[in-house]
Amino acid sequence: MSEEKKIESLQKDGQIFMPDVEKREEAWVGGMDEYEVLHKRALEDPEGYWGERATELLTWFSDFDSVLEADYETPEFKWFSGGRTNVSYNCLDRHLVDGRRNKAALIWQGEPEEDVRVYTYQMLHTEVCRFANVLKKKGVKRGDRVALYMPMIPELTIAMLACTRLGAVHSIVFAGFSSIALQSRIDDSAARVLVTSDAVLRAGKTIALKPNADEALKDCPSVEQCIVVQRGTNDVSMVEGRDSWWHDEINAEDITSECPYEEMDAEDPLFILYTSGSTGKPKGVLHTTGGYLTYAAHTTQHVFDVKDDDVYWCTADIGWITGHSYIVYGPLALGATSVMFEGVPSYPNPDRFWQIVDKFKVNIFYTAPTVIRALMREGEEWTRKYDLGSLRVLGSVGEPINPEAWLWYHKNIGGGKLPIVDTWWQTETGGIMISALPYATPLKPGSATRALPGISAKIVRRDGSPAGPNEGGHLIIDKPWPGMLRTVWGDPERYKSTYFSGFSGAYEAGDGARCDEDGYFWIMGRLDDVINVSGHRMGTAEIESALVAHADVTEAAVVGMPHEVKGETIYAYVTLRSGMEPDDDLLKDLKAWVRKEIGPIATPEFIQFADGLPKTRSGKIMRRVLRKIVEGSDQFGDTSTLADPGVVTDLIEGNRDLI
Ligand code: ATP
Ligand code: MG
Repeated sequence: MSEEKKIESLQKDGQIFMPDVEKREEAWVGGMDEYEVLHKRALEDPEGYWGERATELLTWFSDFDSVLEADYETPEFKWFSGGRTNVSYNCLDRHLVDGRRNKAALIWQGEPEEDVRVYTYQMLHTEVCRFANVLKKKGVKRGDRVALYMPMIPELTIAMLACTRLGAVHSIVFAGFSSIALQSRIDDSAARVLVTSDAVLRAGKTIALKPNADEALKDCPSVEQCIVVQRGTNDVSMVEGRDSWWHDEINAEDITSECPYEEMDAEDPLFILYTSGSTGKPKGVLHTTGGYLTYAAHTTQHVFDVKDDDVYWCTADIGWITGHSYIVYGPLALGATSVMFEGVPSYPNPDRFWQIVDKFKVNIFYTAPTVIRALMREGEEWTRKYDLGSLRVLGSVGEPINPEAWLWYHKNIGGGKLPIVDTWWQTETGGIMISALPYATPLKPGSATRALPGISAKIVRRDGSPAGPNEGGHLIIDKPWPGMLRTVWGDPERYKSTYFSGFSGAYEAGDGARCDEDGYFWIMGRLDDVINVSGHRMGTAEIESALVAHADVTEAAVVGMPHEVKGETIYAYVTLRSGMEPDDDLLKDLKAWVRKEIGPIATPEFIQFADGLPKTRSGKIMRRVLRKIVEGSDQFGDTSTLADPGVVTDLIEGNRDLI
């Protein structure tokens, strides 16, 4: 009964920003009329639409026999069955033609300003072949798993592509994770080889990485070989017979020796990637060859409107899905120029991103709300030091972007005119699902806008019936798409129960959302995080956005705290703008502010000021940890993906002082 109660929408929609009509002519999708036609066509004839896209975007060694075989019961989905292709061929070899082979494929900016490396398609091809030959010598074959635990250095991209060349399945583990997180991921995928580095350079410091790998490998019987890239100058102990240096291995390879690519079936596994762990134990999401690459290339092209001359920069770490799809596979499949950055946005100053945009004249820039909020906190002066005039399209991913942060981004980075594509998607979806198209979609700050052509996103109630306009509910996708996950590695039961058991004939995203009268999606947060106050069920995103809209606040996270009478009451964690000190007046002011912005029902009963919030390494707030703190529990569940465990200790203390 209570489950059927609506999730209420509290947010008042604000302004609309219209797309630049002058750019429509050259755009991949040039207006809403065109969008509507594409969307209708793709929904009515998905096999025709996706079959055409796969043929246009990829090179196939032999044609697929069927576009889609779908069975929601098993569940099993096969895209482009019988088609043969190779990912590294599509990202490299086919670009080795006049006019493209000498184009920059990868522009790498190291953490130290002077460390820059540029790889043309030809150069990247050479390095990938050399490293693929190294892996081959180590016995890596088609279907074998290779774990990559590396910082944001070009060798990571090279290693990924080398795996795909051989048909080996990579499993990337973010270099910020602990040895325990690494161990469990290597063990789960039974990788044969680990590629790592001596160190990570981060915010001016050298952080040893190899000791974590050594610790993890104590308990990873599957790993036979470990290859180490030298990035730092720290001492490293090497285990005889197991460990070797990347440079020694690669220098033993003939510089000009090619490595033939394997012809892979469209449904052969491509990579395993563990989800961020925001809601619980990370899931080993499996993506396969043909569908994933088609979808990554397709969405890169349509959502970012990538053109041949563009310099495209996605600031994500390759250790999470955004980096896989939008630093490496999507852009390289299209033959674009992709920027890869080793450092952080705040070091040496909170203008590093803008400096890089100016330096490389970046045209398309894709980042996360957590970055925008952090930079907002430092003040907009930092954005004025550089010329951002090269920018054309801005993007956001990872969490709902609060309208306040959206407007700041639009004004200070976009010069008040650039389109912002707020892209909703998940590790599981392989690529972007709901997003504006930059020269077509009118934008509403805070909304991811419309589903991409062919993506059948819906909001439903628990019983599967459609939710009305603005009624919060479960976000589902009730038609297959090429980039969808194929299983949870080693756990088909969890695959079925997590994604396909909730709603018959549909993929369940686990997010709460509403759709407004214009068909625009507003993500309200995780369904696990929905707060129930006196029978009113509210998403977290909207209350947090109201708090962030206050001039003194840069970040907020709200959770439900158990309450005898109301069921739950709202507990907010708030981070203030740099230099602001909390006091009682501000506390009262914030409560009054939320009451005015949303209404009395959304007013936080408790507000705890915090310097930092517990976040996953990909920058998402881990509300389940915050909820445990207010419940007074120390059973935090899986926190292996937590960025800074120290934050939690501080928050527990702050909570004790408050309650
Ligand atoms: P886990 O599944 O292990 O809990 P996770 O869901 O955080 O981890 P990801 O796959 O990295 O792992 O994140 C996907 C989630 O991020 C989405 O389900 C959604 O909640 C959130 N998200 C991503 N992009 C957006 C966006 N543009 N707007 C709102 N939410 C977003
Ligand atoms: Mg998830």
